[in-house]
Amino acid sequence: MSVQRPHIEPGRLFIGGEWRDAESKERRDVVDPSTGRVVTTVAEADGADVAAAVAAAREAFDAGPWPRTPARERARVLHRVADLVRERADEIAAVESLDVGKPVSLSRAVDVETVAETYEYYSALAQSIDGATREIPLPSHAYTRREPIGVVGAITPFNFPLILSTSKFAPALAAGNTIVHKPADETPLSALLMAEILADAGVPAGVVNVVTGSGPVLGEALLRHPGVDKIAFTGSTRVGRLAASTAGEQLKPVTMELGGNAPHIVFEDADVGKAIGAIIKAFVFNTGQFCMGGPRLLVHRSLYDTTLGILADAVPAVPVGDPFDPATVVGPMAGERHVENVERFVKAAVEDGGRVVVGGERMELNGGYYYKPTVIAGLDNDARTVQEEIFGPVLTVQPFDTEEEAITLANSTPYGLAAGLQTSDLARAHRVAARLDAGIVWVNDWAMLDPAVPFGGVKQSGYGRESGPEALQAYTRTKSVVISLA
Ligand code: NAD
Repeated sequence: MSVQRPHIEPGRLFIGGEWRDAESKERRDVVDPSTGRVVTTVAEADGADVAAAVAAAREAFDAGPWPRTPARERARVLHRVADLVRERADEIAAVESLDVGKPVSLSRAVDVETVAETYEYYSALAQSIDGATREIPLPSHAYTRREPIGVVGAITPFNFPLILSTSKFAPALAAGNTIVHKPADETPLSALLMAEILADAGVPAGVVNVVTGSGPVLGEALLRHPGVDKIAFTGSTRVGRLAASTAGEQLKPVTMELGGNAPHIVFEDADVGKAIGAIIKAFVFNTGQFCMGGPRLLVHRSLYDTTLGILADAVPAVPVGDPFDPATVVGPMAGERHVENVERFVKAAVEDGGRVVVGGERMELNGGYYYKPTVIAGLDNDARTVQEEIFGPVLTVQPFDTEEEAITLANSTPYGLAAGLQTSDLARAHRVAARLDAGIVWVNDWAMLDPAVPFGGVKQSGYGRESGPEALQAYTRTKSVVISLA
């Protein structure tokens, strides 16, 4: 039986602990990707609203209690956030599914659960933020302090709104920073719900502020505002380049979590029957709108035909459908522009000599933005559909003959976010993992993510790490204090 679609009240901006309309009074539509229908509206903020949000965050950082609250009290607040998220899990999952189109079972089990676990994890780590004493020649005493950076401008993408805002909020708040959040234009709803939950958990007014509206307008205003001390950006490599160079004008520190195009290598010693679940998950998870998805399958030539045969049978059996049907594994894409983008890539693949093994077309259902999971074989490595980030449920399959060739093909794109390999040879697993250009490598499964495990990019996939203790480094800075003992 389908889960009820939630009714969502029109959204307002959350600034200085208050809900308010945009100064311009403008609003924008929010569309359900599984029907193409408008489900609610949110405030359309502009630069004036960003300025108000930054002023609130600035005031909360410079004069408010949060940065001066003992770490153990901040930890208690973060734990309460996790508790409230668990209490309201079904409601949050339904809102995320309505906004993004992801299956409600996935939102509940992965997105909402990850949010709760991440707040729990940084609640525990909040009390580990400390400095060190440094031995220097007497008569002086030196030590370091790790201090919060200040006002964080958080800019997040459409595909995992809850998880990717939480991967910034939880470490930033644990360290005592304040935040202005600009969620993606298309998927702002869970950010507003989380603002309410954070306030209910005891995060003081002004510490978290949310502005909704156009990416270029609000993003640019946040990047340029001198009151913002740090930028935490997740999104495409194209916009990331713009954001990093704009932030660079004021030498603002940035973390850049950008695009990916991960290779998934199947060695001749792998058990393809066992690996097929991971191979399919790697490219259909979140309808392929997954920066760490695995859309490039590299298969040892001895297993190439067998693997294509298994994919031809297994991929059409993946349940694609209404995100509010608990049986659905793959929902619609988040918007019409995303489907059109996939159509362009599949067309280019055919023009470049590729053969569509399964899929290769839209799926008509309730007026939603569906595209069938698609497998393409026969492309050369320099084909656009192999080299560029597609960001849809499309898998290209290429054969290789040697381990060295597999590594060369794996590392041949401009990206380096994630990578995966299937092998039963332990030595090979370690040897190859060490040589792949990626911030995270999975062996014999895919998307094993945890708040304790850092992720992030190399090459054009960005820099900086989210999750793990490493993320705290991004939200603190070191001050040295040297005292004369003379
Ligand atoms: P996007 O780059 O279009 O947008 C990202 C964010 O930037 C959004 O909030 C958007 O409104 C904002 N934005 C747009 N124009 C801007 C501008 N001129 N200045 C400042 N901000 C601006 O990305 P998207 O389509 O929302 O998300 C998909 C992309 O994000 C993919 O490339 C994917 O690989 C990447 N991604 C990366 C990670 C990671 O952890 N590395 C995670 C998820 C998604």
